[in-house]
Amino acid sequence: MGSGQVTDWQGKHVTVAGLGVSGVPAAKVLHGLGARVTVVNDGDDARAREQAAALEALGVTVRLGDGATLPEGTELVVTAPGWQPDKPLFLAAERVGVPVWGDVELAWRLRGTVPGKPVAPWLCVTGTNGKTTTTQMLASILRAAGLRTAAVGNIGVSLLDAVLGEEPYDVLAVELSSYQLHWAPSLRAHSAAVLNLAPDHLDWHGSMEAYARDKGRVYEGNQVACVYNVADKATEDLVREADVEEGCRAIGFTLGTPGPSQLGVVDGILVDRAFVENRRESAQELAEVSDVNPPAPHNIANALAAAALARAFGVPPQAVRDGLRAFTPDAHRIAHVADVDGVAYVDDSKATNTHAAEASLAAYGSIVWIAGGLAKGATFDELVARSAGRLRGVVLIGADRALIREALARHAPEVPVVDLDRTDTGAMLQAVQEAARLAQPGDTVLLAPACASMDMFANYNKRGDAFAEAVRELGAGA
Ligand code: ADP
Repeated sequence: MGSGQVTDWQGKHVTVAGLGVSGVPAAKVLHGLGARVTVVNDGDDARAREQAAALEALGVTVRLGDGATLPEGTELVVTAPGWQPDKPLFLAAERVGVPVWGDVELAWRLRGTVPGKPVAPWLCVTGTNGKTTTTQMLASILRAAGLRTAAVGNIGVSLLDAVLGEEPYDVLAVELSSYQLHWAPSLRAHSAAVLNLAPDHLDWHGSMEAYARDKGRVYEGNQVACVYNVADKATEDLVREADVEEGCRAIGFTLGTPGPSQLGVVDGILVDRAFVENRRESAQELAEVSDVNPPAPHNIANALAAAALARAFGVPPQAVRDGLRAFTPDAHRIAHVADVDGVAYVDDSKATNTHAAEASLAAYGSIVWIAGGLAKGATFDELVARSAGRLRGVVLIGADRALIREALARHAPEVPVVDLDRTDTGAMLQAVQEAARLAQPGDTVLLAPACASMDMFANYNKRGDAFAEAVRELGAGA
């Protein structure tokens, strides 16, 4: 199955690994193209049976309760991105030389197979944090330039729909996770950005090196620009290691004054010293910092990365400004909920790891921090040490709160800490009340848990909703 497009699927034996958000559509598409599809799935619960019945009705074979054995005659495996590379199914495929593609690879290989549909280049975004925001900013900028586009991948429209659906696109803004990149060996983007690299998902990848290597794949074969974070050397190293097309440039983004071939910030203005006529001596003004919503440092970095990708695609400066102004972040990402008694309440429930929480703590001067939940193996010493000077107080919630409490005792012993030993639905209300008690006018009460939410809530959305609800109750009582 080489590395090019596959146009003849007739009768090909394809095994789809995993039902679910990517597996079911992949199975349907492959079946529709004439492939002989078998879906294998570890689970055998009611939901799986329902999905299996719907696929079987179309003529797809489904094997529930056995995701380990490679079906006889398989010529290609298409896997859900989350399946871990050391699964027996993949080892079996490797032994017999059967390729394994993820959902992104499948979409990539199917580009250009719909007659009459333009083939849209991909502008790709990856990184530990900020992917969704940056991809959406990018789509907004491209749209402001009058281009037909969508934010796709981990968000919004699925990649398969974008590639195979009727809607024509000029260019796609593609969010990619490290898992998806792992399974996308032949992806070649027009341009791509790695926003930052911090330890995350290491259990899946096996090591930091393997995680970085998978992120770095996004640069492989780039045509026009590899966008990296000047403040995060690991991202620049990945550019250096990548094998790119002749003439492809390394473009840095920085919150400081940009050097040649960089985008950066000068006196509150986002400027471009990369995609200008004379980059040694001139710079192009793109937008003001206040055009970025919210104008927190890490989010300005996201805006610069999005601008760099858009400029690499030839978008004019004014569209960068218009696109950034038109962008509103998704819920629970540094969302200002309300001011009560001169204190701002901010919901960054999406800060589910320490790197994200550190970025959002850096955005405020004096903070009452609500943190805790499931630590996923993280340690909190660095985060607490770097943020200690901004903390007015801390309210801890959730299963692994002792880990944060101990880090606070080591690095910020003078900061008052309220430790809430309850996980019922009323806990967030009490957390917000305790935070209000610690806060002084001008402070920010920031929910940036640095942890996953599943010990207390269904997901980070529900956690953020509970916070907003509690703030409203507080406001009503004020
Ligand atoms: P992702 O899609 O990578 O999870 P999001 O755009 O949804 O990223 O942002 C998730 C969280 O990460 C935000 O709520 C914020 O706390 C944090 N964050 C966003 N951008 C950055 C960045 N550039 N660096 C560090 N943290 C960030």
